[in-house]
Amino acid sequence: MVFIARQSILWVFFGGVRHTLTQTSAQTVLSALKDTLALPKLVKAGGDPYQTLVVTIISQNTADTNTSRAFENLSKRFEVTPQVLANMETAEIEECIRVAGLFQAKAKTIQTASKIILEKFGGNLNPILALPIEEARRTLMEMPGVGPKTADVVLLFSAHKPAVPVDTHVNRVSKRLGLAPMDGGYEDVRQSLMSLFEPKDYLSVHLLLIAHGRKTCKAHNPHCHNCAINAYCPSNGRVT
Ligand code: SF4
Repeated sequence: MVFIARQSILWVFFGGVRHTLTQTSAQTVLSALKDTLALPKLVKAGGDPYQTLVVTIISQNTADTNTSRAFENLSKRFEVTPQVLANMETAEIEECIRVAGLFQAKAKTIQTASKIILEKFGGNLNPILALPIEEARRTLMEMPGVGPKTADVVLLFSAHKPAVPVDTHVNRVSKRLGLAPMDGGYEDVRQSLMSLFEPKDYLSVHLLLIAHGRKTCKAHNPHCHNCAINAYCPSNGRVT
């Protein structure tokens, strides 16, 4: 990443792609989103890092309502701890989370991760989360089925670490707004957002970009004419 100050405009280069949104403009966009949007409701996982991990695995490729129902089914029936989930029949986890789709693969991932947490980390994720953030991230991602988004969600929501998870909405809206390189991968978008915003705002950035993507900046036919931040958006009226 290279920053070049030129005529008071900060051009930000990531992987050879140029962006025109300055940190000041990014702050203006964030303020406008804060003024117009309510923060989305979070699926409750009690702040427990293991439960957050389970919720995030369940949430892959499914709607929030189905994630909530699946986690509720699981937590009503079993104590959601690595000790319990590692030792139950996989079919029992599958049954509880069926509503979330891809339930067999997700149940297997939950169970494998639970076994690793139990065997390698004594059933406790907190020592991992206490590591320097990039080390904690790498350690979480060593578990099968735990990708960068899941690791970043656990770090942000359970450990209050300065992480910016990039889901499909964050990815799309960031790129349209010029906050991230249009052809960037997960790491490019994450690094770009982290460089443009203050760590104290990472949670708001994550939640507000999701809310804006769901309500206005939809994947198809975004509502540019009704968009509160269209004045700052280089993609205004250009996306179909
Ligand atoms: S102007 Fe259109 S493309 Fe830009 S953020 Fe708003 S809805 Fe999305």
